[in-house]
Amino acid sequence: MNLAHNEFPTDNHGWAELLPERPTSQALQGTHRVPWVVVGAGITGLACARRLAELHPDEEILLLDARRVGQGASGRNSGFVVATSQFNGGFELEQIDNYRRINRINQSGLELLSVQVAENAIECQWRREGFIHTAADRVALREHAFFRCYLEALGVSHTLLDENDLHARLGTDLYKAGIQIADGALVQPAALVHGLADSLPANVSLHEQSAVLELSHRKPLMLRLANAQVETDQLIVATNYEAPSLGFLRSRIIGSTLAGSFTRALTETELASLGSLREWGAISLHSGGATLRLTSDHRLSLRNTAEYHGSSLLSDSELACRQSIHRAAFEKRFPQLAHVPFEFAWSGVEGISRNGTNFFGRQHQNIYLAGGYNGSGVSRGTAFGSAIADYASGEETQTVSDCLESEPGAWIPPRPLLDIGAFFKVRSRFYGVGVDR
Ligand SMILES: Cc1cc2nc3c(=O)[nH]c(=O)nc-3n(C[C@H](O)[C@H](O)[C@H](O)COP(=O)(O)OP(=O)(O)OC[C@H]3O[C@@H](n4cnc5c(N)ncnc54)[C@H](O)[C@@H]3O)c2cc1C
Repeated sequence: MNLAHNEFPTDNHGWAELLPERPTSQALQGTHRVPWVVVGAGITGLACARRLAELHPDEEILLLDARRVGQGASGRNSGFVVATSQFNGGFELEQIDNYRRINRINQSGLELLSVQVAENAIECQWRREGFIHTAADRVALREHAFFRCYLEALGVSHTLLDENDLHARLGTDLYKAGIQIADGALVQPAALVHGLADSLPANVSLHEQSAVLELSHRKPLMLRLANAQVETDQLIVATNYEAPSLGFLRSRIIGSTLAGSFTRALTETELASLGSLREWGAISLHSGGATLRLTSDHRLSLRNTAEYHGSSLLSDSELACRQSIHRAAFEKRFPQLAHVPFEFAWSGVEGISRNGTNFFGRQHQNIYLAGGYNGSGVSRGTAFGSAIADYASGEETQTVSDCLESEPGAWIPPRPLLDIGAFFKVRSRFYGVGVDR
């Protein structure tokens, strides 16, 4: 595999661009020999490097990213740190152990992040007060009934909300029913990963803008970068949907491109029209429905597009075009704010598999991989990242066992069938979405 340095594009439309400029660590140069390398400094790679550093305090851990921290999906998501996953398509009693396993993983990631944010005083608008799942149209209302059964069967603390409750909390008449989950957090995703990167233990060396371009699987493992070469004993791959370009998860993972918009900061009068909560997150019970946030800096954000776009970000003109879809959904929900302009739009690429599974385990003798969370990777990616460090170090934990039980990824056909299949796979999330979009 021989990648080029310029195969890792980015843009200036992530959540990172809403933050003060952060100094970038130096690109790796020269020849190095280290016991551990982690490739990818998103939420998975950061969690993995942190855990490796704890387990091996006397060893150097090299953490490499092709881009700047915050420019991958981990800095471009909607910032829902999930404790309890919602599974579209019905509640299946025989799946209850699987639901419990996945929620144990989520919970473990949420706890790790809570501690790391608190211990390192990371300023990332972290707010652990749960969030609201919403339903407006027929399919989402059916999912609402399923979700309720599921939460009751699992004993998850929640509050049922009707149309009036939702209006009082969110300031919109669109939703007919909702469920408030007590646990879970909201976060500014780029601020979170910046804070995690800037508080790594001393034996982790982070190098941004340091793409691994080529990998030799023979022992010792050799990594080639544009201006550096690294020899290592153990390698952890945390590169999400870009794993195939390093030779892993080929025909198992693709990128789906999502986009959303932010308003300018709302005035006090505009905020007052949104009901009683000063900050909230609302996530649709339909997989194609809109995800909404009222952030602590008083912006409303709405994300409701997803598409197969060759696993890449949208161009400025494509983003402008998607904004008209965001705008229509925004005005439908908040007609009282129709005069409020959008100030910012962003896109991001999430790693998805055909069967909705996640990837965890050994790829070769001394190469391990974790990733691909189908839009639910903040808590889960943290747990997977930390657990892959444990697994590669020979530790046995409940989270390692839970991650190892992930179903194998279903086969995705090669191009040109991939493009057609991926297009329909991503489109399928919108079937029957109605006014929830
Ligand atoms: C718009 C959007 C909204 C989302 N909303 C949510 C949400 O609200 N809640 C939630 O839980 N999840 C959400 N997700 C999903 C979540 O963001 C991802 O699952 C998670 O961030 C994946 O983390 P990661 O570290 O595995 O991958 P990434 O964050 O993608 O990190 C992988 C890193 O690897 C680097 N890399 C790739 N190849 C190489 C190479 N060859 N050499 C060096 N570095 C390399 C990349 O530059 C990148 O930084 C959303 C995703 C998107 C796009």
